[in-house]
Amino acid sequence: MSHPLSYLHDQLEGWKREGTYQRLRVLESEAAAESRFDGKEVINLASNNYLGLTTHPKLREAALEAVRKYGVGSGAVRTISGTMRLHMQLEERIAAFKNVEACVVFQSGFAANAGTVSALLTPDDHIISDELNHASIIDGCRLSKAKIHVFPHKDVGAAEKLLAGLDEAPGRKLLISDGVFSMDGDIGPLPGLVEAAEKHGAIMMVDDAHSSGVLGRNGRGTIDHFNLHGRVQVQVGTLSKAIGVLGGYVCGSRDLIEFLYHFHFASAGRGCRLPGSLRCTGG
Ligand SMILES: *Cc1c(COP(=O)(O)O)cnc(C)c1O
Repeated sequence: MSHPLSYLHDQLEGWKREGTYQRLRVLESEAAAESRFDGKEVINLASNNYLGLTTHPKLREAALEAVRKYGVGSGAVRTISGTMRLHMQLEERIAAFKNVEACVVFQSGFAANAGTVSALLTPDDHIISDELNHASIIDGCRLSKAKIHVFPHKDVGAAEKLLAGLDEAPGRKLLISDGVFSMDGDIGPLPGLVEAAEKHGAIMMVDDAHSSGVLGRNGRGTIDHFNLHGRVQVQVGTLSKAIGVLGGYVCGSRDLIEFLYHFHFASAGRGCRLPGSLRCTGG
């Protein structure tokens, strides 16, 4: 009998033959402009550590201080007994920075996107999504089983047409775009999209993973850059890019954040965890 996972070996060999096999590059120094990968000194143009915060002395000191005071973990998922004062302070600080009522932090931007889209939508609902939106948005959508309508990259007219076509359809509509797109770094046409969402009663959601720390006053992101405060109901961001650490967050109204706390709390009660709780949704 062959090993039950032998097909993986065959696939790997196939990738090697085709020249598409990818090897992980190993960072052997700090993540800095000049880094050492696999024994070679290089200029690192592939990092998202835009502001150099991964190695900022104050962040190093704060992280060490927290480890000394609290240890290296919370001992439980947030929904059971793992929500620390530090989490709440972080959420308050991010909410103030983003000029919104409230914020919830997740383990990653990926989990924040997937966890939010899947929580907000049901199979009766619709998501109108730019074709180059991040994979985590698509995953959230698949988990929610909502109907996905994809519009060509940055095509506001096409997005509006899709929304107009759904005016009579039952269910909620969520219009979603990256603030800055992850592949080419171009900026989403948010003013036009926000207008279309308002005209057709859709929820507006922006994934500002790349723009936070880069665009807007003091890096507040694309909503600030375009002065769209109060008109984007769901804002997602990550701490793993310009902020230089790890984690993701969702910003919006107090109700949105309370809903996300409770949605994931209910899931945890059924034996699932954040973000594994995602697996419990849609059923
Ligand atoms: C990187 C990225 C994410 C995921 O963030 P992580 O915290 O790394 O999981 C989500 N959306 C966009 C647009 C991104 O570029």
